[in-house]
Amino acid sequence: MLEVRGLRASYGRVQVLWDIDLRVEAGEIVSLVGPNGAGKTTLLRALSGMVASSAEIMTFNGTDLRGKSIEQIVDLGLAHVPEGRRLFPGLTVRDNLRLGGWRNNNTDLDRVTELFPRLGERIEQVCGTMSGGEQQMAAIARGLMSRPDLIMIDELSLGLAPVVVEEIIDRLPQIAESGTAVLLVEQDVDAALSAAQRAYVLETGRVVMSGDAAELLADSRIQQSYLGIM
Ligand code: ATP
Repeated sequence: MLEVRGLRASYGRVQVLWDIDLRVEAGEIVSLVGPNGAGKTTLLRALSGMVASSAEIMTFNGTDLRGKSIEQIVDLGLAHVPEGRRLFPGLTVRDNLRLGGWRNNNTDLDRVTELFPRLGERIEQVCGTMSGGEQQMAAIARGLMSRPDLIMIDELSLGLAPVVVEEIIDRLPQIAESGTAVLLVEQDVDAALSAAQRAYVLETGRVVMSGDAAELLADSRIQQSYLGIM
């Protein structure tokens, strides 16, 4: 569904991504892990058209993403939940969700409130007064309102307690089964690899390892570098 070959991206003269190859198939959960500054956020931004990039191939459902605007990429079915969530804090959950469905006239909140019942309970609450976990649920739900084929979630666990992270990660299979593949960027390597079918390890702007997530989790290099297992 998403196919990327030879992607490069720079901020001004400073190149931060080199020759990235990546693919996500329909219905998959794929994780992208790596240390701070590896370029994970930049890669998601490049895919959603927020950062200029070049690539030999960058297609989504067969459509060339190169040169497309952020809005065109959303309309093609690729949603991005940014790091830090970026909700409108003064608006209610309902209004934040409606904004997510605005471009495709989707006003059906049932799919996302079934996925995250707590959002249904708090539908009239202004987002700025919700807990971090509830805000992350609202941000993911807002992304799902565009009925994307792929949702990219950046730093799902940022600032959240482990139990809340687990609660949200537990919902990812349901998202994937309902027809939205997930590309997850996550600092918590254990959680990220446990949740995914496949994964990519990014270090200083390059993919250094990739493959089956369970195999990566068992790999001694991953265990030593990321999981503190000697
Ligand atoms: P983190 O987990 O810390 O967010 P990351 O893997 O997502 O890290 P990026 O945020 O993509 O990494 O950053 C990759 C590199 O690009 C870093 O060296 C960073 O300093 C640089 N960078 C990120 N954003 C910008 C920007 N707007 N202008 C210039 N350089 C940037």
